[in-house]
Amino acid sequence: MSSQQVSLKQLLRDPIYRKWFSTQPLGGFPAYTKFRVYAQVKDDGPWAKKDFNDFKDAYNFVAKYLKKWNDAALVAKNYESRPPVVRKQGRRQYYAPVMTLPGHHWCTYCRRPTVFSYYTQHHAFPQGFQILAYKRRCGVCGIADDAIKRF
Ligand SMILES: [Zn+2]
Repeated sequence: MSSQQVSLKQLLRDPIYRKWFSTQPLGGFPAYTKFRVYAQVKDDGPWAKKDFNDFKDAYNFVAKYLKKWNDAALVAKNYESRPPVVRKQGRRQYYAPVMTLPGHHWCTYCRRPTVFSYYTQHHAFPQGFQILAYKRRCGVCGIADDAIKRF
């Protein structure tokens, strides 16, 4: 993914997103949920991934290494996360700064805004895996944009 995407480091400078990012959803993730950390060490470089059974372990891994990375995501596999909700003038709404970034969409699996584009190869899929090139996909986790909830 190109440098046009906001980085997790930039996102975490926002205290509201930062707090949300570090917190498990109310009631926790379902027991079947596994976690995957995607990390891009260099701008425009390849993405690496590492899987975890526990949210806290994945979170601590990100917290430990994020400074050395260009970008990252903490993906909750098989579990779609809604964007952070805030109260504004008494009304609950999705937190605007993470929802209104030009060119970005909320990726429910990456738990952050990402850029969706068209791919014939994607690092989230095995090498040589035939992916449907006409579907827009998250540049980080590879989910198709018609396969996730839209916010
Ligand atoms: Zn994603």
